[in-house]
Amino acid sequence: MTLQAVLNRVDETLPQALDRLVDLLRIPSISTDPAFKPDCAAAADWLVKELESLGFTASVRPTPGHPMVVARHEAPGPHILFYGHYDVQPVDPLSLWDRDPFDPAIEETAKGAVIRARGASDDKGQLMTFIEACRACKEIHGTLPGNLTIFLEGEEESGSPSLIPFMESNRQELSADLALICDTGLFADSQPAIEMMLRGLAKVEFTIKAATKDLHSGMYGGAAINPIRVLTRILGGLHDDQGRVTVPGFYDDVDELPESVRAQWQSLTFDAGKFLGDVGLSIPAGEVNRTPLEQLWSRPTAEINGIWGGYTGAGFKTVLPAEASAKVSFRLVSRQDPSKILPAFKAWIEAQLPADCSLEWNDPIGSPASVMEITDPAFEAARAALSDEWGVPAVYTGCGGSIPIAGYFKTILNMDAMLIGFACDDDQIHSPNEKYDVKSFHKGIRSWVRVLDRIAK
Ligand SMILES: [Zn+2]
Repeated sequence: MTLQAVLNRVDETLPQALDRLVDLLRIPSISTDPAFKPDCAAAADWLVKELESLGFTASVRPTPGHPMVVARHEAPGPHILFYGHYDVQPVDPLSLWDRDPFDPAIEETAKGAVIRARGASDDKGQLMTFIEACRACKEIHGTLPGNLTIFLEGEEESGSPSLIPFMESNRQELSADLALICDTGLFADSQPAIEMMLRGLAKVEFTIKAATKDLHSGMYGGAAINPIRVLTRILGGLHDDQGRVTVPGFYDDVDELPESVRAQWQSLTFDAGKFLGDVGLSIPAGEVNRTPLEQLWSRPTAEINGIWGGYTGAGFKTVLPAEASAKVSFRLVSRQDPSKILPAFKAWIEAQLPADCSLEWNDPIGSPASVMEITDPAFEAARAALSDEWGVPAVYTGCGGSIPIAGYFKTILNMDAMLIGFACDDDQIHSPNEKYDVKSFHKGIRSWVRVLDRIAK
């Protein structure tokens, strides 16, 4: 059976695959620090050489920042684009590392072997799972496993300034039938997951203004309106006692979870008590009658991120301030549109403003949620492949935060993204002593072999 032959090949050549990962990890491709610009270029060059050796047509593509790597293998079948990033986070403070972050080593731990280095998990180890899967297929079959584009970025850890312009000017080349993104994790360290929904974000800073200047609370108190009182009264009503946001129309474009996904989430072993307990809390504070995972992944939120006004220095000043300000953000889901939500929020505030108060509205900005079309048969095929490899059912999960690349693939290139990752919660990405489990690396490679076997034909 040829699939088995490829999987066997992965098993037999794991030491060599780890050696190649070590080579890539030695390159300190820190994208945010200009001192490492030559190293970012070196990592891109290294990847192009690897990909060319596998039979891809690959090139380093300059941008105003760090280069992109694009590799292409044309073949019959659906066009699949794989995304990863070769840049890494800075390593400071170096004193908290147990070893040189760019001198990788395989260590035995209680959990098993790990490879320790900056970028081991985020994202060099992860992107190499896909490249190594391609290699094993090539070695057994003599050809790469499908109609593939590999797209690797070097600025993910520094805000991706070149990404949108690059996608827009290479739209034709990068538009595929489906994108695979490998930059996320397993669920609870052991269960493979496909992230199917990422929350969007809308945010605004605003100021409520009243008197033309700060006033003496003895001379004016009682007669003059206090804008902090107005602001806190309004924001105090942002949620009702069921935990729902009270802005009219806020839930209009919020879809209920498909029943099949709800059932999967209920089967997940998620310990809400531990999740909250780890940060000193005990009671989920979102909408009542929603599970904690729904509150985190599939329900929208409104949060007051900051609030200020009046005198907050040492001692006391009995001021009646002229203005009060707040920063408020919303995590959005489903079809919620920031360009509808923010004006609705503004209108809701204005409707509650007393006479003599005015509203100043600054820097409203937002991006919608990403929701993948899991009715596309490729999703169920990939889920089956992952379940086969890990011996437990793979699940569709959500992500409370945003992964902007997934949204750009949809809005700029009009393709859905499948987010499959093999990181663990304890990988310490972005922190000292980052590591990647050798088991995750190995099974990650095998997972891609199986996924491509099912979806790339
Ligand atoms: Zn990453």
